[in-house]
Amino acid sequence: GRAPPALSALSQVLRLERSRRAAVVFPLLRLERCLAPGADTARFRLFQPGLAALQRAEALFTSHRGHHIEYVSSAVRMEHAPPPALPEVCFIGRSNVGKSSLIRALFSLAPEVEVRVSKTPGHTKKMNFFKVGKYFTLVDMPGYGYRAPQDFVEMVEAYLQERHNLKRTFLLVDGVVGLQKTDHIAVEMLEEFGIPYVMVLTKIDRASRGLLLKNVLEIQEFVKENTQGCFPQLFLVSSVEFSGVHLLRCFVAHVTGNLPTVEAR
Ligand code: GDP
Repeated sequence: GRAPPALSALSQVLRLERSRRAAVVFPLLRLERCLAPGADTARFRLFQPGLAALQRAEALFTSHRGHHIEYVSSAVRMEHAPPPALPEVCFIGRSNVGKSSLIRALFSLAPEVEVRVSKTPGHTKKMNFFKVGKYFTLVDMPGYGYRAPQDFVEMVEAYLQERHNLKRTFLLVDGVVGLQKTDHIAVEMLEEFGIPYVMVLTKIDRASRGLLLKNVLEIQEFVKENTQGCFPQLFLVSSVEFSGVHLLRCFVAHVTGNLPTVEAR
């Protein structure tokens, strides 16, 4: 396997030079500086925790004796899902959007966690449940494609509608290509069910700053005009460079009720 990513831990990020550090921890905020004067910047800084909150979140994502982070089980039907005992978040997105890479990055401080991928065509797609100590569960939903089979659609719909401990859905969108037709279908489904979700733009290391800014502004506008349940701030991540991953850990900790206070930076 590969060596653990160099910037998995905040302690490593803090050693970087100031502007590089800001870019890794708050990639969206870095784009804000490219906006025209007078532009509405509220959506760039709704969730902007300080170092203490980032560190508390990181501790949740770090396994140690007495705090186990583990793969629990996989399920194709809701009856097979583990009991809804803890607050839960789920990650959904098109196949190839970078979902397994992101979940691996989130769990990189718990290297014993195995994030499985079932990409073989025709292979049964499952929901994979991970447990983070006694604090929350994280669900890796199967990637959807252009022609998602009906049983897949039914499984995802049943999960989203029935899972009462679901605190937030993370909808992954490719930061290089922006919203695609299939992403719109996912948005429509989430809106129809009226469940809270947030969009995460992936692979931002592959987009130039200009392209990224264009995609961010377009998606922000779309969210503002067409959605009710979507959190107005986008989360930008690169699983390769680790940018946005620490902030995303913090947001997951926050929405699952595991950060009692999030003081502003
Ligand atoms: P999934 O199908 O959504 O689980 O997608 P994967 O995580 O398997 O990623 C799909 C492809 O995109 C793989 O070739 C990854 O190496 C690549 N990829 C995923 N995340 C990133 C990222 O943040 N940056 C770059 N450059 N490539 C990425």
